[in-house]
Amino acid sequence: MRTTTAYLAESSGAPLRLQEIQRRELRPEDVAIDITFCGVCFSDVHALQGQGPFPLVPGHEFVGVVTEIGSAVTRFAVGSAVAVGNIVDSCGTCTMCAAGQQNYCAKFPTLTYGGHDRQDGTPTFGGYAKEYVAAEAFVYHLPERLDPASVAPLMCAGVTVWEPLRQWQIGPGMTVGVVGLGGLGHLAIKFAHALGAHVTLFTTSAGKADGALELGADQVVVSGDPAAMSAQANTFDFIIDTASAPHDLTPYLRALALDGTLCALGALGSMEFDPYALLIGRKRLASAGSGGVPATQEMLDFCQLHGITADVEVLPAHEVNTAIARLERNDVRYRFALDMGQMSAP
Ligand SMILES: [Zn+2]
Ligand SMILES: [Zn+2]
Repeated sequence: MRTTTAYLAESSGAPLRLQEIQRRELRPEDVAIDITFCGVCFSDVHALQGQGPFPLVPGHEFVGVVTEIGSAVTRFAVGSAVAVGNIVDSCGTCTMCAAGQQNYCAKFPTLTYGGHDRQDGTPTFGGYAKEYVAAEAFVYHLPERLDPASVAPLMCAGVTVWEPLRQWQIGPGMTVGVVGLGGLGHLAIKFAHALGAHVTLFTTSAGKADGALELGADQVVVSGDPAAMSAQANTFDFIIDTASAPHDLTPYLRALALDGTLCALGALGSMEFDPYALLIGRKRLASAGSGGVPATQEMLDFCQLHGITADVEVLPAHEVNTAIARLERNDVRYRFALDMGQMSAP
């Protein structure tokens, strides 16, 4: 085993503390990555405040530099700039994996943290750390010319909205609604706009309007205003719902056009809606989670081409507990990236 330093929580609600953890020695297909920036995802907060598993090192959207390669590695060399998302392995043989949907692997994908290595069963620890070891098949080249800290959130938040936008073939002439303006929502606006769609943000707070227009939204609708919502009835080809707080989906189903689709990503624990809002207009309710390897690569290529990155607030890694506390109360615009070059006790 090899030793590295990481921010680890021992139990639910406990603060992250700097300590040593163990990573596996490199297998032939592995690369070792010196982590430079790690995004802070809402999943990290959920895991820390909830069921873990503990001990927990969060972090599943990070970038870094390859420091060592296994004997069978072909796509990377020492010094390669790379990015890693929320999956680091899958079975490779099931129908989901064969379809390039490793995120839905029938034998469960190996999560970047909170999972177990498929070969030796050891728990996986995430990217709030100095070093990560991963199989090259789940490591991506960092797009050139893009700011590394701002690329990190693409690896979870980005692909989570990218894959549905592509699956529903969002493009010019289409009307797209984005519900919620956080880490996922702000990237959904950028992607849908760059894909050529007419984009509307649905938000609970009118104060977010200017920010949304700067990101590429064409209009903003305050979801708490019944008249404004009624005015959107039967309008949208596709709505992507990223709001994590529990809420009724019915107003968004009503806002869909004939045969339109609402893809709900956020509040799955409490999905409530009036079934008649599906019936009237032959509408569809769908969901999705994360992305497979091909979609992740496609997203990175698209971002490179269009110069798209996440809007991040970079914090030194030792302020990790501040980042978690602020994200919990949605006090971030729009994603934190931890500078892992500044690791010291929090
Ligand atoms: Zn995430
Ligand atoms: Zn599989």
